[in-house]
Amino acid sequence: MALKFRLKGLAETFVEEITCPHCGLRGTDDNDFITDLSKVTLMGIVVVAQCKSCGEIFVPNNQRVGIVNYSALKSAVIKDSEETGEAIYENINNVRLSAEKLNSERKIPLN
Ligand SMILES: [Zn+2]
Repeated sequence: MALKFRLKGLAETFVEEITCPHCGLRGTDDNDFITDLSKVTLMGIVVVAQCKSCGEIFVPNNQRVGIVNYSALKSAVIKDSEETGEAIYENINNVRLSAEKLNSERKIPLN
């Protein structure tokens, strides 16, 4: 079963299979990966996965990102950013940078 991420009437993204770039774990649903870090960008929903086995945070590269209604999506993203104070993610590259940052922070031992 593929993973589906949907914002009704706004955008939808499908991921057939997720493979962890760190430990090679493969999964097709959220039993193996946490996807809470996924972001809604101006280019659609970008899935961010965290491997439950090794903790690696990454953006799966085989995702099909689709937009249902671009102007409605754009207003929703802007509204959300105003409400949460979080920066707007323009596209998958912004999300990838943010995931890499989270990952490097995660690897710094806490003391
Ligand atoms: Zn892993």
